[in-house]
Amino acid sequence: MTDESGAYECALCGATYETAPEGFLGLDVESHDGTVENHWYPGFCSTEHAAAWFSRPLPHPDAVYTWEPHTAGADWRFWGGVVGGLALGLAVLALAAVGTVSLLG
Ligand SMILES: [Zn+2]
Repeated sequence: MTDESGAYECALCGATYETAPEGFLGLDVESHDGTVENHWYPGFCSTEHAAAWFSRPLPHPDAVYTWEPHTAGADWRFWGGVVGGLALGLAVLALAAVGTVSLLG
């Protein structure tokens, strides 16, 4: 993980580095629990420390996103747009027809 100063910090031992040392790992970890998506962005000074970190229960996540599963509501919005577009097209055609008829009349 990196802090505001840009230092690289090991999530396990807390060692910090100004620049990424050789073998430093930066990981993007995510878990899905129902509709909740948890994210972690841990950094490790070595693969051994990464392995030790993963052998423990995950800490409180850095970020939690709630995602909406695909629902019928999204389909309704899509089809509403399709039907609305068709209705608008028909209305334009109807107006054009009325205009043509009134010109002929
Ligand atoms: Zn470490």
